[in-house]
Amino acid sequence: MKFRHLVFLGPPASGKGTQGRRLAKENHLAYLSTGALLRSALRDDTPLGQKARSFLDRGEYVPDEIMIPMVLEWVGKQGDGWLLDGFPRTVPQVEALDSLLEVKPLAIILHVSNDELRRRVACRLECVECHRVAREGEGELCPECQGKLEPREDDAAENFGNRLDEYRRLVIPAVTYYCDQQRARIVNGMGSPDEVYARVRG
Ligand SMILES: [Zn+2]
Repeated sequence: MKFRHLVFLGPPASGKGTQGRRLAKENHLAYLSTGALLRSALRDDTPLGQKARSFLDRGEYVPDEIMIPMVLEWVGKQGDGWLLDGFPRTVPQVEALDSLLEVKPLAIILHVSNDELRRRVACRLECVECHRVAREGEGELCPECQGKLEPREDDAAENFGNRLDEYRRLVIPAVTYYCDQQRARIVNGMGSPDEVYARVRG
């Protein structure tokens, strides 16, 4: 992988987190999950968490004026390379990130059918400590850190529908932007995590 700045885009439950973590680890890239970052801000009840709460409670994306400064601050602190999961999600976020960088990032876009997304989300659990995604049947504790595995709040059916709608409305234009600039790689996200990862690595 010659790119050192990567962003992962895809609908909720497309496997961005699983694939992004693995790709980052293998290439020694710093990894940021904006979802995990927000959830810990909520848990710690930070000022940012308080602002973000009402959006997350409705299953909506957190607006640019909260997300952009938070993520750009993180990016500014990183050295050699990084991978972002969950950002950018809107065209203004893409532009804000580009404006910070001399070498523009490559976008990896996971494509998964809606039926498959709904099937996955129905049985998805997440570690409350490290936010690794697990499947039902993997046991009660996280294989990585022994944290407790629980269903994610935003995976509730009603919230999930909202998140899919938001994805179409906000993220698809960002995907189109990367495609127009020929900085996108669209990857088939159907199949087992290993099968998808083989495609992600390219
Ligand atoms: Zn864990």
